[in-house]
This record gives sequence, structure tokens and C-alpha cells, in this order.
Amino acid sequence: MQSLQLKSLVTHQRTSLLQHSTRLFSAATTSKQLHLLLFGAPGVGKGTYSKLIEKQFDLPTFSMGEYFRAVINNPSVDNSDPFIVKLKNILRSGQLVDDQTVIDVVLKVKQDAKYGQHLGLILDGVPRTIKQAQMLRDAGVKVDLIINFFNREEILLEKLMGRRVCPSCSRNYNIANINTPDGYKMKPLLPKKKADECDDCEGVKLIVRDDDKESIIRDRMAVYREKTEPIIDFYKSVCGSETKVVDFEAKKGVDDYPEVKRILQETLKI
Ligand SMILES: [Zn+2]
Repeated sequence: MQSLQLKSLVTHQRTSLLQHSTRLFSAATTSKQLHLLLFGAPGVGKGTYSKLIEKQFDLPTFSMGEYFRAVINNPSVDNSDPFIVKLKNILRSGQLVDDQTVIDVVLKVKQDAKYGQHLGLILDGVPRTIKQAQMLRDAGVKVDLIINFFNREEILLEKLMGRRVCPSCSRNYNIANINTPDGYKMKPLLPKKKADECDDCEGVKLIVRDDDKESIIRDRMAVYREKTEPIIDFYKSVCGSETKVVDFEAKKGVDDYPEVKRILQETLKI
């Protein structure tokens, strides 16, 4: 049912979106790049995997959030570029950046030297909605591979609730020691000197951040699922064979990387 609805929506919007998306930048003029999306609830370790991928392959991360921050804060952005000026105005006014502008940012960065010269990009923070996913696709930015990292919910909860932080220097620790019969192996990251004190700050007791309390973690997980699952479903149902979606149960942290690497090599032929 959902897939039928999505299909008709895509067909319906395609013509007008195409006209819009070629207005400023054209993806068709850039060389064919690979596009990856990495999904994962907060705490699942997505950042670790993306860093390892970036290190090994010519696949840097383009982060929409970082790009926006740079447009606002970085004095070296090109202020003679009308698109940048427009974007800066939107961001500074606190308005939401509209979908078309988001897509235009992607098309624009694909043409610049920093991102356009690579084998591909890991897109981070885009698409955020099904609509953006449709618009990206209509603009020629196809997603080749999605890896959806997940942990069993109670494992993720245990891991996140095990986080401790030094209130003085912000150094992170984790007291959770996860080792399950079905293969989850996550070692704790404990202070070496005293059980509940920061190694770097004598006498300072470690604390649990408000963000790492159970009810807040559960809320975050629900929000994450609500936002992400429709996007993954969109790619599974609408994009069929053009997008490979892999659900990856991340049981061992960095020790899972060889398998992640194998998936990339096999799917992307790199
Ligand atoms: Zn400390």
C-alpha cells in the first residue's frame, strides 16, 4: 500500500521537480559519482564506521549540517556567489531551509573541487524526508548503497546508559560490558586509576549526562525511527534495484568493519 502511494507521488511530482532542480545546478553535467547513505540510531557507531570508510576509500562525507555551519560562520565562504548569500540569509534568519535549496546545495557541492573530484560521497543529513529523497533522485542523484546500522534495542540502551563523562574535561568513558550469546561484544571503556573518577582530573567523579538517561534515550530512539524508516522504505520500494539497502546489525564496533568493507566492495565494485 505504502509503496503504491509513494510511486504515484513520485510520478506526479517528477515533471515539476525536474524543472526546478535544473534551475540552478545540473547533476547531469557532473561525472557519475557514487552515493552512500549511512543510517544508524544515536549510539550505534555510525560515525566510527564512516570514518573507517573515509580512510580506506575515496568516499568523503558531505555533511549538510557542517556545510550550513560553514556558510554561517566561515569568513572564507564565497560572498560573491548569489546562492551562498541567499542561503546565508535563510540560515541567519533562523528559517527552515526549504527542500529545493537543500537539493541545490547537494548539486552545487558535487560540482566543486572539494567534493566533486571524488569517487563518491557519503551523504550525511540529506535526504531528511521522503520528499527530499524523491527530489534528489529526480535531480539525478541516485543512491547506490544504504547501510542501515542497528543494534537490538536493549543492547543499544545498555550501551548508552553505560556512558559516563568527566564534568571537568568532558572525557568520555563507558561502563557497559556487553557480551551476549548471539555475538554482541562491546568492551567497557573504564577509567584506569579509580573506578568512578576521571583519569585526567584527580578527585573528579564521573557523571551521567542528562542526554543519557533512559527516558531521553527512548525518546531519541523513537524520533530516529519515525524520521528514518520512511526514507529507508522509500529507497527499498521505489528505487528497487538502483539502491541496495543493507540492514547491518553492528555487534562488535570496529571489529565489524571488515564486513562493512566487504559490502562496499561487493556492492559498489570498488
Ligand atoms: Zn576529566
